[in-house]
Amino acid sequence: MIHLLSLKLVSNSIKAVRGMQDLLPDKKARFRYIEDEARAILASYGFQEVGLPILESTSLFSRLVGGTTDIVEKEMYTFNDRNEDSLTMRPEGTAGLVRLVNEHGLAFNQTQKYWYTGPMFRYERPQKGRYRQFDQIGVECIGLAGPDVDAELLLLSARLWDQLGIASQVSLELNTVGNAESRQAFCAGLVAYLTPHFDDLDADSQRRMTTNPMRILDTKVPKTRELLVDAPALADYIDDESRQHFDGLCAILDAAGLAYEVNPQIVRGLDYYNRTVFEWVTTELGAQGTLCGGGRYDGLVEQLGGKPTPCVGFALGLDRLALMFEDQPVSSKIVDIYGVSVGDVARTKLMVLAEAVRSNLGLAVEVHHGAGKLKAQMKKADGSGAQLALILGEDEINQREITVKALRGDGGQVRIPEGEALAYLQSQFA
Ligand code: ATP
Ligand code: MG
Repeated sequence: MIHLLSLKLVSNSIKAVRGMQDLLPDKKARFRYIEDEARAILASYGFQEVGLPILESTSLFSRLVGGTTDIVEKEMYTFNDRNEDSLTMRPEGTAGLVRLVNEHGLAFNQTQKYWYTGPMFRYERPQKGRYRQFDQIGVECIGLAGPDVDAELLLLSARLWDQLGIASQVSLELNTVGNAESRQAFCAGLVAYLTPHFDDLDADSQRRMTTNPMRILDTKVPKTRELLVDAPALADYIDDESRQHFDGLCAILDAAGLAYEVNPQIVRGLDYYNRTVFEWVTTELGAQGTLCGGGRYDGLVEQLGGKPTPCVGFALGLDRLALMFEDQPVSSKIVDIYGVSVGDVARTKLMVLAEAVRSNLGLAVEVHHGAGKLKAQMKKADGSGAQLALILGEDEINQREITVKALRGDGGQVRIPEGEALAYLQSQFA
């Protein structure tokens, strides 16, 4: 019996966990490209990168993201470690960032402009643009209350779309969810309106009537959506200060010429937002059309025991962004020089020379490993995209020379004394 079982294990190869994607070089290069563009833009606005742990205490998310949100109710990867502490693989970055600024005393009476990148984990149904491990870039501004800061984040993100060449395929949707009191009053109005229709609501929404009525607005169940058409509008409950803040934001965006649409439906799936909320959306990715989402979370630092600190931020999904230019080529691996050799002595010499070229000339050199006929090796050299091939055969070793062959253009080759190799290569790449 045991014997059979172990046989089965051997014959079944192990696959990646459902929803966790491998990033092969092409895809990884796209991620890197987006990240490089974002890094440069963020630096140009004075943002600094920070690193956040992937594991946090579970209570961080249940308290800050909200115990009755989809993320906390059904999407978190939570487990007890060997010490029986409940840990969660971060489903998002804002809660961790707020913990970071609190823990290091960076929030009180100070301004911080931070960003981070890395994987997030949510137990969702995997599909195109929706994975259980996905990468985000998060951008957060701590300690600033004005609508100018919200506007700057939107201008900054618009600059990124522009830089990535997708500006015409994305649009900005904007809303305000007011302060806590306005949302409370709205929820009371919503519950009063829906109570007579309670039996017609889907089970999730029925539950949310008592746990978190705002979340009913997120429902995708058609019958509930129909009922919501005539429901009270959050817009009618917004407090004056939040309204002014929103008008101020719109005025700056108008002045800067950044187009947006006010969409009263946007409330976002996390509990911590107040005032401004926004999403950058596209029609190119089907149901997974939200590329980026964010807003204000002025109450979060205080909720974690810090002093009241206004904050605003957003997160963008690298996986979805990368899908936006999936059919465009990315620059694949290209080295400057490809080295081929015949025999162990020659290969050792080639490797030593390649080290010297990398150190002294800063050029990228790929050395052919393994045996193989010279002709086959030269084919690899051609395919590598390199400008030059270094050839070290038996004759070269005997003469203490190397052959340098042009892989582009005329394809000519020269034999030069070993000692002049570096100087010659330098002259070729000057
Ligand atoms: P959605 O409504 O599509 O579920 P969300 O509101 O849950 O998105 P946020 O929590 O605001 O998303 O995260 C910000 C961004 O991170 C999203 O706009 C999206 O690009 C990306 N993202 C979120 N969840 C996933 C996922 N499961 N797979 C891939 N990307 C994701
Ligand atoms: Mg979601």
